[in-house]
Amino acid sequence: MGKKRRGRDRPVSCTNCGRSVPREKAVEYQKRMFFSTDMKTSEDVTYSDFVSVYYCISCAKHAGIFEKKKERLRRRRERDLYG
Ligand SMILES: [Zn+2]
Repeated sequence: MGKKRRGRDRPVSCTNCGRSVPREKAVEYQKRMFFSTDMKTSEDVTYSDFVSVYYCISCAKHAGIFEKKKERLRRRRERDLYG
């Protein structure tokens, strides 16, 4: 840890295993998160938001992120072609 620190290549830590990987090698995935105040009353506030999470290559493979990304890309392309 803490070898040479290059400013523009900040590592991110893998959400799954906690390993730090260079951002360019990490796999970014937009995940939907739900937030709640858990008050069980009418004032309970729940909202969802997309957050970016990062996985290292091996975890991304394991979690099937590549497949999901491919699928997403394919769907977008189809929409561009036929939509
Ligand atoms: Zn990992």
